[in-house]
This record gives sequence, C-alpha cells and structure tokens, in this order.
Amino acid sequence: MKLLAIDAGHGGKDPGAVSNGYLEKELNLIIARRAYNILKEKYKNQIDLIRDGDYSLNHKLRTKKIKNKYKYCLSIHLNAYNGKGTGVLTIPSIFSQRGKILAKIIADEISNGLGLKINTYYQNGRKGKTGLDYYYMHRLTGKTTTIIVEVCFLDNLEDMKKLNIESASRAIAYGFEKFMLERIKG
Ligand SMILES: [Zn+2]
Repeated sequence: MKLLAIDAGHGGKDPGAVSNGYLEKELNLIIARRAYNILKEKYKNQIDLIRDGDYSLNHKLRTKKIKNKYKYCLSIHLNAYNGKGTGVLTIPSIFSQRGKILAKIIADEISNGLGLKINTYYQNGRKGKTGLDYYYMHRLTGKTTTIIVEVCFLDNLEDMKKLNIESASRAIAYGFEKFMLERIKG
C-alpha cells in the first residue's frame, strides 16, 4: 500500500455544490492539488492525486482507484446546506478509531488556519440505514482509512470570505503530517 491518496471530490458532469457562481468541483481540485504538491515534497511517490482534471469519476471508478491501495485517503469537499451551515467538518468512518483521530487533527488545523468554527455534525462518522457508513467513500474503500474533508460551506458567503486556498491546503497537509508524527511517537 502507498501512504496517501488525495481525492478531489466530484468532477466533470457532477459539479457538487453550486452557489454564488462557485462550483464545488473546481475549488475541490485546486485545494486538493495544492495539498498534494505540499505533501509530495515529503512523501514523494507515496502519495497520489485522485482526479487531477475536470472529468467525471463515478463511485465505482473512484473507489476502485483508492480501495486497499493506500493507507489513508483525504477526500476534499466543500459543504452546502441551504446557506445555513457554517464551519469545517471532517467525517471519518463510524468504524475507524484511527480515522477519528486523523479527522480531528485536520479539523483543528483548518479551524485555526481559516478562523472557522468546527461544525460538529457527523464528526464521529455518519451511520446509514443499513448500519454501515452513510458515505460510499467510507463504505467502498476497504482497509483504506478515508476522511471526508468539508473545508467550509460554499453556499455561506461568510465562510467563503474566510476560505484562503493556500491556508486551507496547508492546514490539510500539516494536519496529515502532524497525525503521522503522532503515530510514530506512539
Ligand atoms: Zn462534495
């Protein structure tokens, strides 16, 4: 297994959230690519960017690229909730203790880096009707510890004023590095 996949959510025919002229797929890619480039300095060929352009990737193809091929996956998204949501939200699998730790570290870094609150919905994962994870990125990625990173709410202009691409990308990259250092320590 390689160490890390950074996944830019949505793409192509699937724009993700759309609001105020923003397309989630575009911002996801910019942030994911920048975080990838920062982390590549350190982790070299142990890290890959999943979706590196504006094309569609369905659930099956996307998770096939990731499942059991990486120890970790960070899936980069921006949130939307009818203009009423705010803050950073990172979502681990309901089954992964390690994922919860990684999710918390990255949420803290983004919160500090951008001056955003931490949104507490689903911070311990989200259970679907079947008792499995609600999100396919968790359900279909096997042994890979996958975190969904919702940087802020794209349909909330107060959140978007705080969204600095460089700070967000660095927060994600530093959060991952910090998690890895803590794992080495014990
Ligand atoms: Zn999304």
